[in-house]
Amino acid sequence: MNLAALARFGRRFADTALGLIYPPVCQICGNERAAADAGFVCRTCHAQIRFIEPPFCNRCGLPFAGEISGAFECSNCRELELHFDHARAAVTLDGPVQTALHRFKYNRAEWFESFLARLLIERAAPELANENWDFIAPVPLHPVKLREREFNQADRLARRLAKATGIRHESGLLRRVKPTETQTRLSRAERAANLRGAFAAAGDGLEKARVVLVDDVLTTGATANAAAAALREAGAARVVVWTVARGTLRPVLACESAPNI
Ligand SMILES: [Zn+2]
Ligand SMILES: [Zn+2]
Repeated sequence: MNLAALARFGRRFADTALGLIYPPVCQICGNERAAADAGFVCRTCHAQIRFIEPPFCNRCGLPFAGEISGAFECSNCRELELHFDHARAAVTLDGPVQTALHRFKYNRAEWFESFLARLLIERAAPELANENWDFIAPVPLHPVKLREREFNQADRLARRLAKATGIRHESGLLRRVKPTETQTRLSRAERAANLRGAFAAAGDGLEKARVVLVDDVLTTGATANAAAAALREAGAARVVVWTVARGTLRPVLACESAPNI
């Protein structure tokens, strides 16, 4: 066998091996074909993804399901002291995105990484291109949790967004200095208290910095807000938050009485 044939054989073998590990079937529904370049998510599942379109809250990005024109701020934001300039998400946290994010994060389903990152990049990259940014940084995990989970899903997404936009990726900009209990069952006030002092900026160099903070999901914004507060304290001039998905504790209801404009 000559070298070229050997290389062809090697490639075929690698493809087959990859096909065995990641069969070309949708990893969400398991019903339809979906190849690696489609992020292992089929067309039917793709069609269920809900991109966030206006109208949404100018500050936190919470989508509003009603007729409204112009910018507004939701009631959540009016009550909170926000340390980020604004938060945006690519899609709503439901359907295939919710499944993929959950499995990516908790079951280390790494084949969803490119699918999720692509959603983020599709929406974030054009917006970020309108301004100059110094860093893209992930919301960090506490070292104990990082050891448990073995990777920080936010950092994986941040790295991909940085690569797509050419903005400098800096995973060590923030540290999570306080382990926090899981937030899902806590009220908004409890979340904020839980997160007070949870983050610290890792070093100098943040004076007047413009930072894009990346996480997988934003729900109340309490985590991103605490992380943004630490960046501001260290001198950051501008902090915006980008997440793949936006969760709503009470879907859109939180905003329904909000826009008094
Ligand atoms: Zn599917
Ligand atoms: Zn808001």
